Amino acid sequence: MLAFAALMALLGAAMGSFVALVAERLVRGEAIALSRSACRTCGTPLRARHLVPVASYLVLRGRCATCQARIPPLLFQAEAIGALFGLAAALSAPDPARALLLAAWMWALLGLALADLRSFRLPDALTLTAALLGLALTLAGDGTGWPPLSDRALQAAIGALAGGGSFWLLRAAYRWRSGRDGMGLGDVKLMAALGLALGVEHLPIMVLLAALTALALSALRAWRKGRPLNRLGRVPFGAALAMSAALVSVL
Ligand SMILES: [Zn+2]
Repeated sequence: MLAFAALMALLGAAMGSFVALVAERLVRGEAIALSRSACRTCGTPLRARHLVPVASYLVLRGRCATCQARIPPLLFQAEAIGALFGLAAALSAPDPARALLLAAWMWALLGLALADLRSFRLPDALTLTAALLGLALTLAGDGTGWPPLSDRALQAAIGALAGGGSFWLLRAAYRWRSGRDGMGLGDVKLMAALGLALGVEHLPIMVLLAALTALALSALRAWRKGRPLNRLGRVPFGAALAMSAALVSVL
């Protein structure tokens, strides 16, 4: 059990760095081919010993070994969160297969959060991946065989409709009131995807947690920049939703 948890944490660190790469390439419109990672500043391809998640970042003190340019700390944070997700999934799922499925879903959510934080975009490819993994998660159940498969399928469908539908209505209402978009269609699709995994009963607490997270992040940013809270501009709400969903699923 402990060995499995440690293994999942290691795999999680590697997956954190992988989804960070995928998120970056998707928002830049680059192919996700397995080309070698290179320093964004000097273009030097990274050596194998510089690709060890977390450890390399600490050894290199967050700088490129060739040109000393700073490696974005978000990459290190993605590896650390990926490891935490792997560990949490191993400890909360009833068996290794379900733990791997739960972790894969959380890593997809991490990719979505990173894309939203970097560029306010939720790439469809990542949302679809999270949706398929979330559906598989609900259909796999908790290993007790209860409730029956047909009930679990219905639960996923209702969750997706409630999540996507409620946000679609919010978006339409805001546009009708203000004449502009307050929320991207990406958030609507993300909510439908999250509903597949969480079911309708966990959606309210997840959205509340996301709203509090987004508010806390915004307040922190406003305080740092010395700006009033009502002039913040965009809030990466999709990232808050994705991270809250991961949290709710392992609590
Ligand atoms: Zn460099």
